[in-house]
Amino acid sequence: MILIKSNSQIAEMRKANQIVRDTLKLLQDHTKAGVSTWELNRLAHEYIVSQHAVPSFLNYNGFPASICVSIDCEVVHGIPSKRKVLEEGQIVSYDCGAILNGWHGDAARTVAVGIISPECQQLIDVTEQCFFKGVNAIVAGETRLGDLGHVIQSYAESYGYGVVRDLVGHGIGRQMHEDPEVPNFGKEGHGMRLSAGMTIAVEPMITMGTEKVDWGSDGWTVKTRDHKPAAHYENTIAITDNGIEILSL
Ligand code: MG
Ligand code: MG
Repeated sequence: MILIKSNSQIAEMRKANQIVRDTLKLLQDHTKAGVSTWELNRLAHEYIVSQHAVPSFLNYNGFPASICVSIDCEVVHGIPSKRKVLEEGQIVSYDCGAILNGWHGDAARTVAVGIISPECQQLIDVTEQCFFKGVNAIVAGETRLGDLGHVIQSYAESYGYGVVRDLVGHGIGRQMHEDPEVPNFGKEGHGMRLSAGMTIAVEPMITMGTEKVDWGSDGWTVKTRDHKPAAHYENTIAITDNGIEILSL
């Protein structure tokens, strides 16, 4: 069931998403070789709580931390750990969610640890561009989920990249994951139309090689099957009659 949000509900979601946005900025500012991912988790947790919000990932289906930190071939859902320390040349994806006054925010960024290869920088840039190409193409009441997925997929594949099939974006509101599913791939003219009042998280997960992924032995961490790097870029957006608002920017 799709839950349509009023303008005042979207305003509440904007506040939650601004906390997520600022948490991601804080993480980006503290990204450097030698920092443990547990320390980054602690920073994010304390910031979210200081804003009177709740880190929505903590204990979500038993997830043991407040953010996901996924390095290089880890696509999403990496678990922060004192033993997992950032190293020069890595790419690191932060995924963060917060609940404020019962409303959810959800966003993700992939950033460089120090100097990275041009190939990794291009992967990060193209993943971000996939989000904007897709979202900028949305027209309320016209664009279908398949159209959005098609824009993202064809742009990523024009660089020879893989588009992860096993994980997708989602509706968001009073729950972190609401209907509909929002794939980063699809056929033009297929799927549900996106209409005013829908709030969705659009989150391309793009790989340098195969789009095939596997779940790690911890039950959470999703890695590329060929162990090539992956990037993730996500924002929560609101579809309105006046265009798209990116709530987590
Ligand atoms: Mg997320
Ligand atoms: Mg999400």
